[in-house]
This record gives sequence, structure tokens and C-alpha cells, in this order.
Amino acid sequence: MGKYRPTIGMEVHVELATKSKMFCGCKNGMGQEKSPNKNICPVCTGQPGAIPVPNAQAIEFTIQAGLALDCHIAKESKFDRKNYFYPDLPKGYQISQFDKPICSRGSLKFTLKSDDGTVVGTEKVGITRIHLEEDTGKLVHEGKNTLVDFNRACVPLMELVTDPDINSAAEAKRFCEDLRLLFRYLGISPADMEKGQMRCEANISLYEVGKDPLSGTKVELKNLNSFRAVERGIEYEIERQTEVLTSGGVVHQETRGWDEKKGRTFLQRSKEDAHDYRYFPEPDIAPFKLEESYVELLREKLPELPTEKRNRFVEQFGLKLENASILVVNKELAEYFENVASELENWMKEEGHSFNEEDTKKLFRLAANYILTELSRRISDTEGGMKDFKISAENFAELIKIVYEGEINSSAAQTVLGVMFETGADPSHVVEEKGLAQTSDEGELGDIIEKIITDNSGPTEDYKNGKENAIKFLVGQVMAATKGSANPQVVKKVLMEKLS
Ligand SMILES: [Zn+2]
Repeated sequence: MGKYRPTIGMEVHVELATKSKMFCGCKNGMGQEKSPNKNICPVCTGQPGAIPVPNAQAIEFTIQAGLALDCHIAKESKFDRKNYFYPDLPKGYQISQFDKPICSRGSLKFTLKSDDGTVVGTEKVGITRIHLEEDTGKLVHEGKNTLVDFNRACVPLMELVTDPDINSAAEAKRFCEDLRLLFRYLGISPADMEKGQMRCEANISLYEVGKDPLSGTKVELKNLNSFRAVERGIEYEIERQTEVLTSGGVVHQETRGWDEKKGRTFLQRSKEDAHDYRYFPEPDIAPFKLEESYVELLREKLPELPTEKRNRFVEQFGLKLENASILVVNKELAEYFENVASELENWMKEEGHSFNEEDTKKLFRLAANYILTELSRRISDTEGGMKDFKISAENFAELIKIVYEGEINSSAAQTVLGVMFETGADPSHVVEEKGLAQTSDEGELGDIIEKIITDNSGPTEDYKNGKENAIKFLVGQVMAATKGSANPQVVKKVLMEKLS
């Protein structure tokens, strides 16, 4: 480790998936409309005399995000005008929030993992504030001409600012990933970075070890359009600033952009041309109160959040923390696992004989493993992903059950799963049709086992003389003789009986 350490804060913008836009009744197409200027009206194109009316759903979504992030929710809030000129901003100002954001002083706790997926610790990043504003339009450059599309103008945009609590590029990436997962669980935005629905910026400064972590000069980094860009961009900037400082230079306060192709940051704006936005209260929208009873109602409506779900999977189903963490990242897959688990629970109840805790855990873990490996691989190889998924939770649970009971071995299970994935078929039918069932009939296996014992007098003697490992060889011979269709547990049992 060198002489300098980074201090990083994030600014994240998220488009909210409301039905209509932030201040008018136009459809909110989340910037995905095919034809330009389709969802527009006098309000979102800034016509004189048009009056903005705030979107209650957007305010609700912002409060829910704040509650999920342990924020303080303001009792009173208001909108302000942020004045600047840009061709994609029809009013000449953006309606935003300045001194009274809806949420403040929260935090996000997230897990840090090493490259192989093992959890190495937890980190807590403070949330300074979350406020609500409107998105801008888009400029489209065509040859020599520049066109403007106002479909995106006035789409609700939530801005979240963190405390400077982040200490590495990897942590920043992890924070953004967990934040997106949270937004998806809340159902307030798909937060797809590639579609511009979630945009991340980082403030990066370096300080000398032993000094105040906030003593460095802040550089703002923009154009981070993917999680990978967040990590690479910040890494590059830390290296760049380290080099400047190490060679006796000065880091300037400036805004830099990330060039994904060239893999470097470049100067966009220096401090001298920083904007003075001359914020003032939006005169067309009255300040509003957020009653405690209303906020409490929204708190009750919060769904189970990713961290809670992960911990519950560990506790309720005995899953390993790593597996639970991976499952939770895919909300649909996590739901599927729960449905399968509940089918397995029903089956255990019906079976009558009591499953002890260990057996139960084994069964759930087996289901999770199959979902995370065999199933996930097949799903990610398919174009439609989960959309075209055909296996019902009931049928999948049935497959887990027959694997657990040793009716089929693991290679047969792969074949069965393959057919199920294609057709959605019932696993028992597939096993029967393809003749994949393991032979567990002791009488049927008895003759083959007798023959193996006679043919292998050496290992047989070894076993009788106390070399317990020799039984493995004999089991292997029976398995080969039956082309893998014998149930190895039964074979072992019969062998031991015959040799005792
Ligand atoms: Zn409109």
C-alpha cells in the first residue's frame, strides 16, 4: 500500500417506473419509445403558462426507497428550480429539490465478496439524501443536424447521494449493484444501466495516510454507464491521482468523463466553468407535508428486501450464505426456489415419517444446488431466459425428490432435467420412458453381485481381512456390470451382507 488512500462518494440517478411523467399526465415510457416526441404536452415541453402538478406515485416511490435505506423522511418538503440552459431542457430550468429533500441520513449495508464468491465482510455506506427531480430530453445527432426528442423530458428522476464512505473501486461497484437490486425489489425501477435508467457518478479524492480522509481535492467522474465502467473508471482515476501526487503535482477540482473504449478518464469541465444554478423555490408548486401516518402506511407496504430474504433463506432452509446471496440476486429464481421448497415441504409432510433437521436441510440444499448450477446454466443459454421457462415448481420438486431418494443417479438426473427443460414434462414419466431408473431390487441385483464376488476373489478376501476400502472396488464392478443403472447404496448394502 502506498502513501495515499481514496475517499469515494457516489451520486446515482434513477428513472422511476411511474405510469405518467413527473409533472404532467403524459405516459412515462422510461426513454424506450420508438418514435420521437410521442409522449409530450405543453407542460413537459415548457410552453408558457403550463402548470406542473407533482406525481404522487413518484413521491411514494421515493419515500419507499428512503424507508428501505433507513432514511429519515422529511415532514415537509418542496420543489426548487435549478436554472441552466441546455437545448434538451425546454423550460430553461429543471424542477428539482434543493434544501428540503424527501429523504436524508440513511444507509445501505452490503456484503463484500472475494472473486470466488465467498463473503468476506459487510460494509455500510451512509446515504446523505434522496431527492426527486425531472429528467431532461435527449439530443439526437444526425449528420450535420442535431434533433431534440422530448419523450424523456419530465420523466421522474430520483437522485441519491452517498456520504464519502467508500474506499475502493470494487466497493463502489458492489454498492451500485446492491442499490439496483433494492430498486428492483421495491419495484420502483428496472434500473437498467445500459438503457440509462440508472446513471452513476463518483466523487473521488485521495488523502495521505494519517491525515483527514476528506483533505483531498475532489474530482467528479461521469459517463459511468455500466457496473464495469464504475469499477474501471474509479480504478483508473485513483491511479491517475496517485501518480499526480507522487510526482509532486496538484490534483485539480474538475469534472472528468470515462472513455470506455480508451479505458481512461478525460477532462470535461474545470472548476472555473462550474455552474451557478441559482436555485430558488418553484413558485408553481406549493411546499407539501408528508404525514407520519402516510409514511407508516408506505412502510407497511414495503416488500421483503434482498438482505432480509438472504438471511431468511439461510435460517429457514439452511442454505449456505453464498448460495443464498446468489439466489437473491435473481428475484424470479429466488421465488422459484421458494415454490420448489414449499412443494418439498408438502411432500415431507405427506410422507408421514419424520424428516430430521439434517435431512430437511439436505433436501433444500440439493434443490438450491440444482437451481443454481444445472438450471441457471440452461436458463442463461436460452434466449428468452426465464420467460420461456417450462418446468413447474411441482415437477422440479419431484425431480429433486427422486434424486434424493436415489431412484436415479446424477448423470441420469441431467438427462431428465434436459428433457424437462425442453418440454416441461413430468420427471417420473421421463425416467420411465427412457428407462433411467436405478435398480434397487435386491433380488434382481443379487445374481449380478454373486458373480462379481466370485470373479474378484482378491478384493473379496481383502475386504474380509478388514480392508474396508475394497468394498468400493466391488461396488464399482457391479455398477459397470449394470451400466450404471444399479443403486450404489443398495449394491453396497447387499455386498456387505453377503460378505459378512
Ligand atoms: Zn407532458
